[in-house]
Amino acid sequence: MADATRSAPIATVVNTHANGDHCYGNSLVGDATIVSSAATAGEMSEVPPAMLAALNADQSPVGELFRSFFGDFDFDGIDVRLPDRTFEGRLELDVGGRTVELIEVGPAHTAGDTIAVVPDAGVIYTGDILFIDGTPIVWAGPLSNWVAACDLMLGMDADTIVPGHGPVTDKSGVTEVRDYLTFVDGEASARHAAGMDAFDAAREIAAAIGASEDFGRLGEFGRIAVNVETVYRQLDPGHETPDVVEQFRRMAEIERA
Ligand SMILES: [Zn+2]
Repeated sequence: MADATRSAPIATVVNTHANGDHCYGNSLVGDATIVSSAATAGEMSEVPPAMLAALNADQSPVGELFRSFFGDFDFDGIDVRLPDRTFEGRLELDVGGRTVELIEVGPAHTAGDTIAVVPDAGVIYTGDILFIDGTPIVWAGPLSNWVAACDLMLGMDADTIVPGHGPVTDKSGVTEVRDYLTFVDGEASARHAAGMDAFDAAREIAAAIGASEDFGRLGEFGRIAVNVETVYRQLDPGHETPDVVEQFRRMAEIERA
């Protein structure tokens, strides 16, 4: 971005959420003001990059599995710079004379997801509230918050929607994510009511998704394992979700099947 930032230096950075692929560059933007929701700032120091670097170098089966997801990332020497300014709900920023509206829509993907709206341009930056061509992963939930975030965006006057992953889209991309979440919520809830184990449910729903016209082409379909866990926790707060390592193992197992 050097050509652009020479004449227009970055003065404000928004972290949409606390995942490393969205905030580990904070230390590289000089004295720009970093802004996030308070929930995101709170989550940002939970997983130190050194732990991820160690997992990437680990020679055990867990390290092997971790590398299958994150082997392309270099987590060494990352200095986590926490946000300078936090907000709850909504915050309006002036960025180079232009209004940018931050709207907290989490917890959904993480504990504190934010979308950034540029009203005069009709643009929404969604962070990981949208995955296009890939499967949304609902780490925090509830799914209803994520569906509500989709409805909020569908009601906005916006033609250009920039997802956290995948190509730039429009409202059709929002509708696809909403449809996926609604489908998963319904399928997982029915299996929970029938007393089915969460991982068994995830495997069954993965097979249904693989065969479906609507969602069969989505990448990273193994994420259904995490999404079903989140639905089960919503329906039964006593439901115990396995640790992150086990969740990665399950995602890998579903994608290998
Ligand atoms: Zn991401």
